[in-house]
Amino acid sequence: MHEEYRQAYVLGTGLLALGLWAADPQGRAGLGLGAWILALALGALLEPCVDVASQRYGRVLSRGPADRSVLALTFDDGPAPPHTDRILEVLAREKVPAAFFCLGRDAARHPELVRRMQREGHLVGSHTQNHANLLFCLPGRSRREILEGQASMARILGQEPRWFRPPFGMRTPWTVRQARDLGMTTALWSNCPRDWQLPGAEVLARRVVDRARPGDVVLLHDGGGDRSQTVQALEILIPELRRKGFEFVRLDALADESRP
Ligand SMILES: [Zn+2]
Repeated sequence: MHEEYRQAYVLGTGLLALGLWAADPQGRAGLGLGAWILALALGALLEPCVDVASQRYGRVLSRGPADRSVLALTFDDGPAPPHTDRILEVLAREKVPAAFFCLGRDAARHPELVRRMQREGHLVGSHTQNHANLLFCLPGRSRREILEGQASMARILGQEPRWFRPPFGMRTPWTVRQARDLGMTTALWSNCPRDWQLPGAEVLARRVVDRARPGDVVLLHDGGGDRSQTVQALEILIPELRRKGFEFVRLDALADESRP
């Protein structure tokens, strides 16, 4: 987690606790202090659920080693025509391998797109069956979402996907273990231009290129809304990153390099 977020949380909850103390007609300092300690404890428990780099609740791949100028593109929430098709066209033209984390329910609707991803050399992973936020799922429902998502993909691919990405990057202490028990490695990301904000293709491309570091895993989306900006941004950022000396590799190749 970025240090500034952590400081803002500690300071913010501290101020709220101070407000609570000031508003208490009897001025009990213990009330404010107790609330602050509770907020800090809750924050410490929740941070590994939302922090994409945290390994506390299970090993995740957020980025590759930083010693080579390689980078992996990943796409979530598809398959979703026509954007997935257009992204596949750009990737084929530029000869860039990528990873797609598909939703089981949508893959079942567009199996031909999933098979095309596989045929064109991309890594196809699972993003659960219905895009459930696993942070709010008890173990039973969480396992069902992961299992159903994996089974939907396996029916189309002819083999079980080996990679998993939890929706919103959120996980509980049991999420990563459940995916691992099904033979999947959990992947998150290190470079997220927030393409869902639709800031314009130029801005999106800038966000990726300006913050690109060796070993980055870039999070983009081919589904979940109108992704024309993501398609256009891709056409800008691929040549720009190449000009900066980056080479594109598949997510699993990045993972192989992280092994000692
Ligand atoms: Zn998603």
